[in-house]
Amino acid sequence: MQTADVVIIGGGIVGSSIAYHLTEQGCKNVIVIEREAHQGKGSTGKSMGGVRAQFSTPVNILMSLYSIPFYASFDDLLGYPGGYRPQGYLFLATTDAHLRYLDTNMQKQVELGLKSVEKVTAEDVAKTYPKLRTDDVLGGNFCSTDGFVDPYSAMIGFMTKASEQGARLWRGTEVTGISVDCNGVAAISTSRDTIVTRNVVNAAGAWAAQIAKMVNINLPVVPLRRMLVPTEPFDEYPHSAPMTIDMSNGFHFRPESLGFLLAWNDPTETTGYKTDFEPSFIEKILERAANRVPCFENVAVNPKKAWAGLYEMTPDHHPILGAVPEVEGFFCANGFSGHGVMHAPATGKILADLVLNGTTDLIDATLLNLARFAEGREIQETAVL
Ligand SMILES: Cc1cc2nc3c(=O)[nH]c(=O)nc-3n(C[C@H](O)[C@H](O)[C@H](O)COP(=O)(O)OP(=O)(O)OC[C@H]3O[C@@H](n4cnc5c(N)ncnc54)[C@H](O)[C@@H]3O)c2cc1C
Repeated sequence: MQTADVVIIGGGIVGSSIAYHLTEQGCKNVIVIEREAHQGKGSTGKSMGGVRAQFSTPVNILMSLYSIPFYASFDDLLGYPGGYRPQGYLFLATTDAHLRYLDTNMQKQVELGLKSVEKVTAEDVAKTYPKLRTDDVLGGNFCSTDGFVDPYSAMIGFMTKASEQGARLWRGTEVTGISVDCNGVAAISTSRDTIVTRNVVNAAGAWAAQIAKMVNINLPVVPLRRMLVPTEPFDEYPHSAPMTIDMSNGFHFRPESLGFLLAWNDPTETTGYKTDFEPSFIEKILERAANRVPCFENVAVNPKKAWAGLYEMTPDHHPILGAVPEVEGFFCANGFSGHGVMHAPATGKILADLVLNGTTDLIDATLLNLARFAEGREIQETAVL
């Protein structure tokens, strides 16, 4: 029998960041439980690593305004590499509605303190990226501090630093139950041992609803497959390019290694624990890639190198963070809807604040609590890629 001040279920980037932030705040007796033999087997190891502040809701923008500067100083703060590359995100508008949407979002981003976002004209885009097809582009928005991180490296950095500061990581250990008494959470049963604790954080990614069920909570988090296609080495397009988003159909891409990483949210995808890569996706994505970047017509792709992973979707595309009223000591850090890597630093800080002090000054945490669904307070994020 072990005891812990806080048990974190899930050793992905979110659980690791929470462990780091808890130990930073002086809470050292923390156990992170990961059922896989190695970290990163969940969504974190499958991520595209994009980080951006170009969101449409203030709470998501605020989470990015903490997270991106954090990633920028990650290596100094933690002493391990996070792989932050500020190459920007470039949204390409092809309708007036897109332009208005980007304008409205930019106003909110600037009001909240983002300095590095700007409007770009179609001519600017054509001049900087002559290999993009811009005949239908009306303009766009570019934020230079947006960019990419290395999700695996950042996760390992968070967990290693947390371990140096007292946290323990139990790999190859599955959480099988959570016992509750009249004071709330009492103990966690695992395949390795029982842990007596009064605080548990659910950081189980796409599997979060199964953990919540252990305390009879219905968590509206569902898995949704996303597929990524890396190209073979390709140098006909600049490797200094930003994440570039074709708003006409959602196709986006960024440089990766000697080639490019291609992404597109297939609207016909259905929810479920599907993690096999579907080969027919290659043709669909290459068609969209060549439509926006004609030289991608010549790009080589090895289907064996493509992969699929799970987004953890909520009905309003915002995470569910913090305590649940029904079970004292049960905290959620779930439902990132495709933004868990970029928002892991803010989530770590918010959860550490909420577990240790019951309050945080980073955001108004009530906006993201589970109760918002029952109380009709959903806040829709529409800038989901
Ligand atoms: C293709 C793809 C592209 C993406 N691109 C981006 C992007 O560009 N930017 C971005 O910010 N986000 C992106 N995401 C989303 C991002 O990867 C996730 O939001 C993030 O990784 C969630 O981290 P996590 O730690 O919550 O979950 P995970 O990394 O899934 O970790 C959860 C862990 O919990 C463990 N677990 C589950 N149940 C149990 C149990 N019973 N006992 C013990 N352990 C358990 C799992 O094994 C897993 O390791 C992308 C996701 C995919 C699939």
